[in-house]
Amino acid sequence: MAPLREAPFVLRMKNGRVLNFGAGPSAMPLPVLEQAQHEFLNWEQTGVSILEISHRSRQFMKVVEETQENIRRLYGIPDDYEVLFIQGGGHMQFAMVPLNLAGEKPGAYAVNGIWSKKALAEAVKVGSARCAAECEGRVPTAEELDTQDSAYTYYCSNETVNGIQYQEVPRTDGLLVADMSSDFLSRPVPIDRFGLIFAGAQKNLGPAGLTVVIVRKDLLGKASPKVPTMLNYETYAKSSSLYNTPPVFSIYMSWLVTKWILREGGLKVMHDRAKTRSSLIYDHIDRSEGFYRNKINKADRSRMNVVFNLKSKELEERFVTEAQEQGLTSLKGHRLVGGIRASLYNAMPVDGAERLADFMSAFCERNA
Ligand SMILES: *Cc1c(COP(=O)(O)O)cnc(C)c1O
Repeated sequence: MAPLREAPFVLRMKNGRVLNFGAGPSAMPLPVLEQAQHEFLNWEQTGVSILEISHRSRQFMKVVEETQENIRRLYGIPDDYEVLFIQGGGHMQFAMVPLNLAGEKPGAYAVNGIWSKKALAEAVKVGSARCAAECEGRVPTAEELDTQDSAYTYYCSNETVNGIQYQEVPRTDGLLVADMSSDFLSRPVPIDRFGLIFAGAQKNLGPAGLTVVIVRKDLLGKASPKVPTMLNYETYAKSSSLYNTPPVFSIYMSWLVTKWILREGGLKVMHDRAKTRSSLIYDHIDRSEGFYRNKINKADRSRMNVVFNLKSKELEERFVTEAQEQGLTSLKGHRLVGGIRASLYNAMPVDGAERLADFMSAFCERNA
């Protein structure tokens, strides 16, 4: 049957792939995809696919343990922390955090973008929470954070939609909680400064379906008995994250990705690459004399999601279409904020960012 309309031309690499700048689910490292493809039908001589194996089999339990162990090694996670595998994404953590950690005192939320705002709204719904600071286009200073009389201080380390990232862990005395969904495993982090960190896998770790929670052990077991079993962190800690059927494929892929990061040299290497990639794009924005515009406070610019605008919506649409023809895809900004967004996660090679920067130069010359 003939296609209804001719597919637009897209320049592709030899293997048929493109450079994917999507924000999530996002690009995965090619060697990981190739390995998964290679062993898809017969995984480790079991005669079945990873999708067909019992989550309680010895082989799969080894995958769960090794993935947790790899995350521990990469971050240097101290022994008094648990690494838990949960489902429900970042959104479910917006509810689980207050259900498990807020008691008589509210959680205090630093709001500086879409995700921290959503987290606060959900926390208000299920428990008690209040705003600790509200600022647009930048990270709040330590002085601005009002964390008095709160159960914990919550922040989003990288605002994926707005392109804002904390470059340092905020200084607070109390318990610190962070949403690291979009910069997980992208740089070293002093885990012992935190009570809890969570991250949905689909930005920088693996496929959608898995959420990683790193939590200090003394915080477990404090939830009210009314909290549903599956929303209580203790359930996952007591069962090695195998209380019910976990997202086996997502865990398996995340296992391969953590092994890939270890082989590449770890989080310091990931961070150096992230700085190189994002600087290439920001330098182009700053040297374009206003052709490309980024409104974020320079010190707070995200190394993962570079957002920018052109002078009109029409020009932005042309940018996205022409970039796509060049094999640079998914550059359209989030529907709520528009503009352009280039997500540059771990799996994006530095020369991918170079290709985008070259395209930006050429596009600017043609249209300035
Ligand atoms: C994507 C994202 C979320 C939401 O994740 P879901 O898994 O879709 O619920 C939350 N926080 C941040 C920072 C994100 O980037």
